[in-house]
Amino acid sequence: MDIRALHNLSYGLYIVSAKKEGHFNGQVANTVFQISSDPPTLAVSINKQNLTHEFIQAGKAFIVSVLAKEAPLSLIGQFGFKSGREVDKFAAVAFQLTPAGLPYVTEHTLAYLEAKVIQAVDAGTHTIFIGELTEAAVLAPGEPMTYAYYHQVKRGTTPKTAPTFVAVAEKPPVAGPSYQCSICNYVYDPAKGDPERGIAPGTPFTALADDWTCPICGAGKDAFEKVV
Ligand code: FE
Repeated sequence: MDIRALHNLSYGLYIVSAKKEGHFNGQVANTVFQISSDPPTLAVSINKQNLTHEFIQAGKAFIVSVLAKEAPLSLIGQFGFKSGREVDKFAAVAFQLTPAGLPYVTEHTLAYLEAKVIQAVDAGTHTIFIGELTEAAVLAPGEPMTYAYYHQVKRGTTPKTAPTFVAVAEKPPVAGPSYQCSICNYVYDPAKGDPERGIAPGTPFTALADDWTCPICGAGKDAFEKVV
């Protein structure tokens, strides 16, 4: 069995949020999909260890913010590499509430979909929450972020499969080695720099300011290791 076959599945990238006792939490998820249209029904697969899992179970509802392709690493990192047990993830982002009081992100978000949970399927490490659509809106035109685009373009990782992505990964002359974050696996590629924060392509890792931090998880430079 070649489990690399799994890398050929395609996904989007979403922020799945929920409410519990007046508190909000959300997380990045790629496993969101529509399972039927009459009535419109969605499924999300959420790790049982995540706080969002607890919130969905408590509130019996979830809301999906559909991220735009242009969504910055900092927004994804805020929901993807921090725990709601330690920080209020919504404190640092623009969001609004649906009439039912569920929070959806309004920055770099194309649409939201709110659902009430009608079934929860135990899937070992994860629970698949099935929800009937209760509210939805398109917030902005644009192209949705895909999981592949996030991994291969935004995070600057080397494609493991999919030859179609080789063209995207073509790089200008390399200005020194790449460095990888030991916390979140983000790769700083000097050929790309960190354009979201004004670091020009061609800037070597060693030339970054001492207070430069990982664009995804916020770890310091000392958390990075040279990619060999
Ligand atoms: Fe990181």
